Amino acid sequence: MTLAAAGPEGAGAAADPGQLARHPAKNPGAPRPLYCIWEITLRCDLGCKHCGSRAGKARTSELTTAECFDLARQLADVGVREVVLIGGEAYLRDDWHLIAGEITRLGMICGMATGARSLTAERISQATDAGMRSISISLDGLEASHDAQRGVKGSWRAAVDACSRVAASPIRLTTNSQVNRISLPELPALADLLVEVGSRAWQVQLSVAMGRAADRPDLLLQPYELLELFPLLVWIQQEKLRPKGILLFPGNNVGYFGPYEHELRYGGEDGAHWGGCPAGQWAMGVEADGQIKGCPSLPTSVYGGGSVRETRLAEIIANAPELRVIRERTIADLWGFCRTCYYADTCMGGCTWTAHSLLGRAGNNPYCIHRATELEAQGLRERIVKVEAAPGLPFDHGRYELALEPLPPPGETPSVGGVPLNRLMALGPKSGGAWTKAELDERLRPR
Ligand code: SF4
Ligand code: SF4
Repeated sequence: MTLAAAGPEGAGAAADPGQLARHPAKNPGAPRPLYCIWEITLRCDLGCKHCGSRAGKARTSELTTAECFDLARQLADVGVREVVLIGGEAYLRDDWHLIAGEITRLGMICGMATGARSLTAERISQATDAGMRSISISLDGLEASHDAQRGVKGSWRAAVDACSRVAASPIRLTTNSQVNRISLPELPALADLLVEVGSRAWQVQLSVAMGRAADRPDLLLQPYELLELFPLLVWIQQEKLRPKGILLFPGNNVGYFGPYEHELRYGGEDGAHWGGCPAGQWAMGVEADGQIKGCPSLPTSVYGGGSVRETRLAEIIANAPELRVIRERTIADLWGFCRTCYYADTCMGGCTWTAHSLLGRAGNNPYCIHRATELEAQGLRERIVKVEAAPGLPFDHGRYELALEPLPPPGETPSVGGVPLNRLMALGPKSGGAWTKAELDERLRPR
């Protein structure tokens, strides 16, 4: 899970996205952590092709129950209001519900983001008893493409069934989805499915070139495909979700401004707009061994601010250079297109995680609709090209370069993500999906 979503698994998991819309303005030098994504184990029961943390096995030295309780106390003391538990798969820790209960007891809102392969009725009952307020379940497409991306046959069925169970419980059901070259054409049918299962909010985030996703360039959207994604999201919101009272939230890495900002960002709240990466400012992340980052998705080697086993949380948040570097970023730190952008002083180059994972350095982010629209007006588009493989470690990344090229002439048949529009509109929640098995295998082949 990621914060754009919530966590390195890469899903959008804000427990209460509306609350995030009301975050305080950026105020360099005055961190005020309100929102924490806490990976309590790296153990996982899925094998997602887009997993940024390459989760599977637990970390060698994960925090004990007593250490988790102490950290929960420290989170409350520094003013955190909401904690979202992630993994790996959070519920694979025997004490996950005890940690959730302690967070609630200390007066913070507790949520969980999950792939839900084994989110049984008993676990939902444990979450309810712990006072958990929301559960965000990841659904990355229709059955075949979800299972292919998640690496386990039957994981879509399990997640859909878990959605229905959570919707029938006192806990608020939200959902989150990866947007990539597999899921893009299935988003309208997926929206219909979310209405069926009773999701109250849906967060979409772009798959990012980190961890296992860094190994699969063909899975990642090209920046110019945002020109198709945004109108599609607005259409889904207006036609399918808003009439049913379901909120759609683009994650922090679906960037930024442009003609769709007011309609999509923060549920259309008046005057709300993207205010820059909140990592280390009002957002923070915890790794299962106590490492603190400004955002759980960031590469640990560069943005890990130290462990609560050695340093008090308040001290790390206030002083660790790895957290300060993001909240104290200035225009002088931007580069490429972002350095020259009209919105630069507010945006500061968008999502740190996306830019750093892709280009090896923050401050220049091609996954931006304003940027794609500006380039389109000049007859240009940007394409990412993989030039260096990732080493194969948790939260690692390779390196991509940007190619600026002329826009090709429009195709005769309108399409989204390579699928003709009429075929895409005919897809429904019970359809096989947009792709044949051979196409899926080819797109998800390790490279
Ligand atoms: S071009 Fe860069 S600075 Fe400008 S809005 Fe997009 S991400 Fe932000
Ligand atoms: S790096 Fe910043 S913008 Fe990106 S997901 Fe994390 S907190 Fe959000």
